[in-house]
Amino acid sequence: MVPDERKIFDNGSHQNILLEDYGHGEMVQANVHFIVDNGQGMILDPGGHKVFKHLLSEIGGLIGIDNLKYIFLSHQDPDIVAAINGWLMTTKATALSSVLWIRFIPHFGVDKLVIDRIKGIPDEGTIVRLGSTELYIIPGHFMHAPGNLQVYDPVSKILYSGDLGASLGQDYIYVENFEEHIQYMEGFHRRYIPTSKVLKAWVRMVRELDIETIAPQHGAIIKGKENVNKFFDWLENLECGIDIMEDVYKIPTKTFEG
Ligand code: FE
Repeated sequence: MVPDERKIFDNGSHQNILLEDYGHGEMVQANVHFIVDNGQGMILDPGGHKVFKHLLSEIGGLIGIDNLKYIFLSHQDPDIVAAINGWLMTTKATALSSVLWIRFIPHFGVDKLVIDRIKGIPDEGTIVRLGSTELYIIPGHFMHAPGNLQVYDPVSKILYSGDLGASLGQDYIYVENFEEHIQYMEGFHRRYIPTSKVLKAWVRMVRELDIETIAPQHGAIIKGKENVNKFFDWLENLECGIDIMEDVYKIPTKTFEG
C-alpha cells in the first residue's frame, strides 16, 4: 500500500507515486518517482545499488516487474544511473538517456546483453507512449548536466524536473510556503546551474505547459499553480554559476590539510 502522501496523483488508471526513500546515511537524499498508466510503468532516476533491490520489489508489488516499460535517466550522475545494469538485467524495460551519455553510462558496468536497451534521446527531446498516454521528454540541458532531460506528464500535470528545484535540509515532502522554502534550494542552484541565461530560456519553454506540480529528484515537491509560478519567477531572476563566481579562477595558495 502506498501511503497517501506519496501518491502525488491518482485518477484510478493513472498514478504518480513518490517511491519509498531507501537511501540513508552518507548518500544525498534522492527522490525516486514512478508513473503508472493503465498498468504500465516508468521509473525516474532510480539511483544506486543500495536502493535497487528495495525499489525493484516495490515496483514488483505495484505493477509486476514485467510491466516496467521505461527507466528514465535525467542525466548521468551516480545517484541516477549507478544501478542501471541491475535494472536492465532484471526487467524488460528500455532506459532513456540523453544521447550525450550513451558511451559514458557503460562505465558503471553494463552487460553486453542489455546495453542496446539504453536508448539515446536527441537534444530536442521526444514523446514516449506509456499505457494509453503520452509523456513528453523535454530539454533541461545545462541544469545541471550538459545533456539533461525532464519529463512532463500531461495527465497529472506534473513536471519531473530532475535536479532543477532540488532542495536539501528541509523536513517536509510538500512545499507549503514558497518564500520560506527558497533557503533550501538556493545554495544548490547558485552553484550547480552554470548560468542564469539557461534558466531564462527554460522558464520561457515550460510556461507554455499546464503545470500543477514540480517534482524534483532531491527534496520537496512544489504543488499548486501559485507556487509553481513563484518557482518560475524565482528561477528567472536567480544569479548563478559563472555569473557570480568568476573570482574562483585563481591559482590556489593553500596546502590541502585533509
Ligand atoms: Fe545531478
